Amino acid sequence: MKNLLVALSFTLVGSCVSMRHSEKIDQLKSSIKFEDTETISSYLNTITASELESHVYGFCNEEFQGRRTGEPGHHKASKFIKDYYISEGIKSPLGSKYYQYIPESHFSNGIKDSQNVIAFIEGSEKPNEVIILSAHSDHEGYTDSEIYYGADDNGSGTAAVFELAQAFKIAAANGHRPKRSVVFLHLTGEEIGLEGSRYYTKYPVFSMKNTVANLNIDMIGRVDEAHTDNEDYIYLIGSDQLSTELHYISEEANSIFTNLELDYRFNKDNDPNQYFSRSDQYNFALKGVPVIFYFNGEHEDYTEPTDTPDKINYRLLEKRTKLIFATAWYLANADNRLEVDIDA
Ligand SMILES: [Zn+2]
Repeated sequence: MKNLLVALSFTLVGSCVSMRHSEKIDQLKSSIKFEDTETISSYLNTITASELESHVYGFCNEEFQGRRTGEPGHHKASKFIKDYYISEGIKSPLGSKYYQYIPESHFSNGIKDSQNVIAFIEGSEKPNEVIILSAHSDHEGYTDSEIYYGADDNGSGTAAVFELAQAFKIAAANGHRPKRSVVFLHLTGEEIGLEGSRYYTKYPVFSMKNTVANLNIDMIGRVDEAHTDNEDYIYLIGSDQLSTELHYISEEANSIFTNLELDYRFNKDNDPNQYFSRSDQYNFALKGVPVIFYFNGEHEDYTEPTDTPDKINYRLLEKRTKLIFATAWYLANADNRLEVDIDA
């Protein structure tokens, strides 16, 4: 990421010969306008804590045996995802199969074949330009005595994508179909090395060139130790790495609709945790696609069998999902496509 950051700062300096950097940023900020906030709010409000709760419980069912990539439990979880889209009347760009099949040969260490699940709402004006909303569907599996439920990791992200899809579907049905296509991408193989996103970005359903942005969700249902005094926060990672405009769109979405504390402490090149490269957004960023990674930080149940649905803060999960919806709405409906700062 170091090289990206250096290149970004050169780009900004280079394009500001007659204008100070701060003036350029002010101009960019004032160009970001959310029109018809009432309409957006009406669809935003279809995202509810109770539906999110029902999705997390459904997806983190013991029947799915911790959803380990390539195993029967994860195949069943993939079918659960596909069946949700069918029941909501949301189509797949892959037709009736919904699955992007990934052969065993893509993996190593004896991992068997698996699948990403893909659905979308087709855009009305620029259907080939896509916003990808993603969450990984796999988790750690089970041992002889315990199941790794992965309610936060990543039942929370999966439930969020379900609610985002439903909100866009309701909007489309009411005459507010997005101008660009919005893709709902449930990635396999994240826990074993971002393999589902590596496969998708190698064999994309929509070209990487036409992929406007990737908003990736991985763990947004809990509160970490650093925020026990203010639960209404979310860590954003990567929002300014490839597109300064994306960063300010996200900030404006938050200030109008959600008022969360946007915590950027992990959005640093020298962050020792290196979260930016530890979830699926990384593979999109490597292809030059602007990304935001939404994350609540680690907690005592992280990658433990005790990460269960009863510990999710559903009120907060709702609020964080609404922020992602407002950001995605803007990206999908803006007259001009999101600008990338650099040719990555
Ligand atoms: Zn995860």
